[in-house]
Amino acid sequence: MAEGSIRIRGASVHNLRQVDVDLPKGRIVAVTGVSGSGKSSLAYDTLFAEGQRRFLESLSPSARQFLHQLPRPKIKRIDGLTPTLAIAQNRLAPNPRATVATLTDIYDHLRLLWTHLGTPWCPSCGIPVRRDTVETIAEWIGRYPAGTRFNVMATYARKHTGEVLPLLEQLHKQGFVRVFWGDRNVEIRELLRDPPRRKRTGRDIDVVVDRLVVRRNGTPRLADALETASRIAAGRVKLAVLNDKDTWLVKSFTAALVCTECGHVCAPPGPRLFSFNAPEGACPTCKGLGWHEDFAPDKLIGDPLCFVAETLPALATLVGLPSDGLEEPTGSWPFERRSTRWNEVPHPLLERLMDGDPASGFPGVVELARRRREKTRSKAVIKRLDALRGERPCPDCNGERLNRDAAAVRVAGTRLPDLLAMDVADARGWIDGLALGASEREKVGEVIDEIASRLAFLDRIRLDYLTLDRPAHTLSGGETQRARLTTQLGSRLEGVTYILDEPTTGLHQADTGLLVDLLRELETGGNTVVVVEHDEQVMRAADHLVELGPGAGNAGGTVVWSGPRDELDHAAGLTAAFLRGEKRVTPYRIRKPAIDFIEVREARLHNLQRVHARFPVGCMNVVTGLSGAGKSTLVKDCLLAGIAAHHHRRAVQPGSGAVLGAGKVDRAVMIENRSLGRGPRSTPVTYIKAMDDIRALYAALPEARLRGFKADRFSFNNKRGQCPQCEGQGVTRVAMHFMPDVFVTCERCHGLRYNPETLAVSYRNRSIGQVLQLSVDEALGHFVAIDAICAKLRHLKDLGLGYLQLGQASQDLSGGEAQRIRLAAELGRPASARCLYVMDEPTSGLHPFDVDILLRVLKRLVERGHTLVIIEHQLDLIAAADWVIDVGPGAGAAGGRIVASGTPEQVAACEGTPTGAYLREHLARTDS
Ligand code: ADP
Ligand code: ADP
Ligand code: ZN
Ligand code: ZN
Repeated sequence: MAEGSIRIRGASVHNLRQVDVDLPKGRIVAVTGVSGSGKSSLAYDTLFAEGQRRFLESLSPSARQFLHQLPRPKIKRIDGLTPTLAIAQNRLAPNPRATVATLTDIYDHLRLLWTHLGTPWCPSCGIPVRRDTVETIAEWIGRYPAGTRFNVMATYARKHTGEVLPLLEQLHKQGFVRVFWGDRNVEIRELLRDPPRRKRTGRDIDVVVDRLVVRRNGTPRLADALETASRIAAGRVKLAVLNDKDTWLVKSFTAALVCTECGHVCAPPGPRLFSFNAPEGACPTCKGLGWHEDFAPDKLIGDPLCFVAETLPALATLVGLPSDGLEEPTGSWPFERRSTRWNEVPHPLLERLMDGDPASGFPGVVELARRRREKTRSKAVIKRLDALRGERPCPDCNGERLNRDAAAVRVAGTRLPDLLAMDVADARGWIDGLALGASEREKVGEVIDEIASRLAFLDRIRLDYLTLDRPAHTLSGGETQRARLTTQLGSRLEGVTYILDEPTTGLHQADTGLLVDLLRELETGGNTVVVVEHDEQVMRAADHLVELGPGAGNAGGTVVWSGPRDELDHAAGLTAAFLRGEKRVTPYRIRKPAIDFIEVREARLHNLQRVHARFPVGCMNVVTGLSGAGKSTLVKDCLLAGIAAHHHRRAVQPGSGAVLGAGKVDRAVMIENRSLGRGPRSTPVTYIKAMDDIRALYAALPEARLRGFKADRFSFNNKRGQCPQCEGQGVTRVAMHFMPDVFVTCERCHGLRYNPETLAVSYRNRSIGQVLQLSVDEALGHFVAIDAICAKLRHLKDLGLGYLQLGQASQDLSGGEAQRIRLAAELGRPASARCLYVMDEPTSGLHPFDVDILLRVLKRLVERGHTLVIIEHQLDLIAAADWVIDVGPGAGAAGGRIVASGTPEQVAACEGTPTGAYLREHLARTDS
């Protein structure tokens, strides 16, 4: 255990009120408190920011020049701080090219592995392509007895026809003495003096680079000679060996990677060849992205449960054929089309129908759709066709992203894309099974260890179901953070202060223990682990707890309690009260009856195994299951996308199945808990559209009318209204070279965002710039007379966001806050439409106290007739559902089925699912 503590004195960042707190070094510290109490302000904006600043200070003077621009966190002092590293969730827009393998640095190590051990294969002929090296050539000639004489020759001209004299003259000038002519060595001078009468027809002209003799311990000058020959002849080298009968035996070698079958020259393996981000390695068609947009077979077919004969005519007319136009291509199908459903059609037949059949000249439905789209003038047809497009794998690389040469290279018989397509568990098996010779082990032993240990971490952190080529932007925030955690564990740093933001996000209770183990592992390297977390298991596992509060915003910012976990029984504060069971989240145990359903049928996207799922309309549905079970796939990619496709004719992914009853709701939307928008221009008040009312109010003031200011002038995005220095952002961006950019308050407007003329207009003594600095609570007082504004702001207050600043940059909001602002915007809509709201872990970032508020709002949405479909692990929320759908039983290939569904009581009664067990225990505990 590292000794001492990190002593923070007088921290006043954001809402913190001169916080003094000591955090034990080398331990796990959990920071809790209600949303907005100041947890991030302490962990990120104080600890991490100061650590980052000190790190910069320790760097070179050229790096330090940025230092004066880095805002110093508002603190009196921090003692005992070690270098800080933040392992954050994905708050920023991720790189579309990043994958699990690149995120965890595994890809870089794999590129090295393929560079060192890869055997190139011809992409067309599917055979290994060998290249001769000095070693292989020396080995070949070394089999001859010592004393054997031989030539090293370069093929100066291949299959030469026509005049030779000019060539010979060139060679002579370059200082070569002999050529191999008519099966013997001939001096060039001689040939020049007495030119051969007959013309050469189609034979190689080989110049003798050196004449050597085989020696027992290797032939001197051989390497040099081969090098020279190879340079002259672009890798085409020959040896002519004089055997005992005084005849020459000629053998060709090539240093280039040439296929012996077709002559294709492969690119030599190297780290850049295996990078889909490098021009050397990327598929030239998709530039390394792996996909392109095209007509999607699933969309073209429509409902997979329809009989083929039933919808075939419609499909034909859709692509511009007469209604019996597809009879011929499907005529040979070996089954009764009237009694066979689309989902029962064998894949190869379907493929031929969609992508064409060269044998019969049928171009395929996809191609026909393309042609119709090209030709038609009808807007309606265009709209209909465009709704049937989706992402399809790049036809050149099949989605593998690499060019043909790179993708063909094999290690132990496996291509790099094949390995990347494996999930972590299979990739571990492959790496463990690599049999290496001693020299190979020497070259790549470390690389393999790096890969193996990172895969092992991914496995332990329950990400074993992820494939290595999975795009990072398809990962949830929790998965991303856990993958990043792997990178950190892999780098084995010591004496660092790690700062984590709710690492349990996305984890089932059953797996939280594993996460705690990994945090312990970070700790044993003498590292301090500061984790912002509300999960009960993690809080109980922490060595030390800090609770901030008591409330949010101005009502928070003080340390309510700080102490070792063992003293929790005597601790003050909400968290301790919840942990001791004195306080609890309001239990909702009255279930709305499930009467009418929206159904997902035949979903087989990702790991889903032909899932049929029913979601009762007008109810609060909660979807549960282990991380990787298939919850997001079912809810977002199948249900949500299917309903959106119904209403907006949007494309869905192949395999997402059919949605029945999509018309039972008017709209389906995802309420994200990622950040709202990028950059300082997006703010809570603009998001809930209250800014429009505020601008109208200011434009109507006499002062504004006098100056001719219209409402748009009061937009900080308007050139005439905004501060010219920061262009209305209130902050200016300072680019850092090796870290994320930093924002500092604009020195011209002092963060007010507007120019002085605009700021001169005031309502109740406040300029519009000052209004943006008010909290929601303050603004409700300021605008008390203006109903339109208050109505919108009140939704924020009801959701517990009264402490938020109107103009706070959305990027500074936590995911939980962002989600609640979205909810506020939804509550502000007219109540006439029936919506289906999808949410992914709405409780992430929320203290039990906040969960209570959230539940109230969710129940209000259901009362208004809306349907909720929520992916969640938090037991209070699951227990409050009307209907639970448990996906599983495992993750990845071991999941993808509906294990149980019904009321929470019904699911709790199910044996053999982890969710059932936890729910049973929870219901028993909270109903007592
Ligand atoms: P928590 O992490 O506990 O949810 P935060 O530390 O994020 O709370 O926020 C504490 C208070 O500081 C809140 O009132 C929040 O609105 C405010 N705050 C957070 N970030 C900023 C910022 N960049 N500028 C101004 N106020 C902020
Ligand atoms: P959950 O939401 O239950 O954590 P997901 O639906 O995200 O699970 O994932 C279920 C399975 O589908 C996993 O094996 C996952 O790796 C796979 N999967 C999810 N999204 C994608 C995607 N965009 N591409 C490929 N595989 C995916
Ligand atoms: Zn070939
Ligand atoms: Zn491609």
